[in-house]
Amino acid sequence: MRHLLPGTIAARGMALGRARLVQPSRYAVDTRPLADEEIEGELENLHRALDMARQELRDLRGKLQGALAREVNEFIDAHSLLLDDAELLRGLDELVRVGHYRAGAALKKQREKLSAMFEAMDDPYLRSRKEDVEQVINRVIAALQRQTSPEERKLAARVGEILIADSIAPADMAQLAGNGLLGVVASSGSAYSHSAILARSLGLPMLVGTRDALSHIHDDDLLLLDAERGEAVVHPAAQDLARYRAWQREAVIEGRRLALLANAPTRTRDGLDIRLLANAESPADVALARTRGADGVGLYRTEFLFLRHKDLPSEDEQFIAYRDLVLGMGGLPVTIRTLDLGADKADAAGLVMQGEENPALGVRGVRLSLRYPAVFSTQIRAILRAACYGPVRVLVPMVTQPDELIAVRTLFKLARQELKRENIDLPEKLPLGAMIEVPAAAINVRALIEHADFLAIGTNDLAQYVLAADRGNDALDNIYSPLQPALLRVLSHVIGAGRRAGKPVSLCGEIGGDVNFTALLLALGLCEFSMHPGQILLVRDRLATLDRSALRHHAPRLLRAHTHEQVAALLAEISDAAA
Ligand code: PEP
Ligand code: MG
Repeated sequence: MRHLLPGTIAARGMALGRARLVQPSRYAVDTRPLADEEIEGELENLHRALDMARQELRDLRGKLQGALAREVNEFIDAHSLLLDDAELLRGLDELVRVGHYRAGAALKKQREKLSAMFEAMDDPYLRSRKEDVEQVINRVIAALQRQTSPEERKLAARVGEILIADSIAPADMAQLAGNGLLGVVASSGSAYSHSAILARSLGLPMLVGTRDALSHIHDDDLLLLDAERGEAVVHPAAQDLARYRAWQREAVIEGRRLALLANAPTRTRDGLDIRLLANAESPADVALARTRGADGVGLYRTEFLFLRHKDLPSEDEQFIAYRDLVLGMGGLPVTIRTLDLGADKADAAGLVMQGEENPALGVRGVRLSLRYPAVFSTQIRAILRAACYGPVRVLVPMVTQPDELIAVRTLFKLARQELKRENIDLPEKLPLGAMIEVPAAAINVRALIEHADFLAIGTNDLAQYVLAADRGNDALDNIYSPLQPALLRVLSHVIGAGRRAGKPVSLCGEIGGDVNFTALLLALGLCEFSMHPGQILLVRDRLATLDRSALRHHAPRLLRAHTHEQVAALLAEISDAAA
């Protein structure tokens, strides 16, 4: 019988398909003890499954491209490392060899033991690693299952399905999207999680927080995922199907209409020109940025070069990547961000400090780069050489205070002198900008502005530091909202300080490309938005409907709000009036 399950929209759209429940814990595990002569064979099964899981992760890495590949690749790397963890492997072997456990039972036992261990940790970051451990072990269990049950192998490749899960790891989502997955209904999770960001970039409709999904939906139920209204309809009726068909027709027309905007100027309804920049890091992003009519690259994340290999990337390797980016943008300005490792972005070469008690507040971003002047100078030389091929700006991440910018400038000066001595071509002076993502940098922005040529606000980090709330932690959903008044006041302060000093201010966090926040950012005075290139047409379209001066007029009311609920209500009221 038809029934509705409400959920929170994480990625808009609709999908009609068969439900596929993912509950790896449902796999029946054979608990009969092994006979002595079965042990070697079972160890082989176990290691084959581990190899399959490793290979799956490698394949995933090879398939992913684009700005979001960086996000997903971090998870893949973390999971790959876990799969090679000596302690985990030793523990599993012992369970089979000494405890006579079958492979599935051994994996389950280890999963329970490690989960309990992480669960008991005081540090919330380490506690959150429990999810990683479970996802990795579940991947191995699934691989084991595929060896023994051909049915499971088929499941992995079935198309036309909507995934129903408690939560889904970004790497799995990417893999399933490549296998024809239509959408995701998660019973937990947040709209700001990495998986939600990935779903938006892949164009997969997704609901999170659909509390009863796993108990009220069954395998093969026909399901209408309506991530426009925020509900999953189990056994949809004729009126639901009619609504879905109407949406499909609209989506085609909308797609054609948006395509026409690729060469249109970006202008608000009252005629203010806005700059739309791309967050790009691969040739595919650059190509998309060009076809969508981006005004340049507002954020080029250089970490990905350091996340791939165990060795540090050479100056030439970096130079070629940066030069190709500059050439690819055909004379439009490109903003290269210096290395932003640390916290959740661990490099393969081991630059990131190990054992920090609180890595998100530790040696990350420019703090880390300045600890390794030789590594940093290599990157700076590569940037300087690439900047001979077109307009380049340099952006410094995680700046807290002016001395960091001064130190970076000094390193640039020294690198210039060196290159000059080597008779290597040098570009004109490069603008140097600061990312504003640390609350201290935002509050004391006037001190930084004296040393920066431009600012780029990183709201992903700024929001989590202002609110002291990890954006991936769905237990904090009611706190981590970009509409929090404290965050709005900080944004308004930074944008205003930039305007008064005559220095450009862009915003390159996720909300820059989310049309739900376009009116808000215009109201706060933002004129430069940087986003995943796939969002450019949508934001251009939205801007054309908004009256910027009417929105600016309402800014004081927004800034006086006391709660994010009040901001949401006000925003709905004023965006309707300004649209
Ligand atoms: C940000 O923090 O908003 C940002 C753009 O940087 P990253 O997401 O790379 O940390
Ligand atoms: Mg950041």
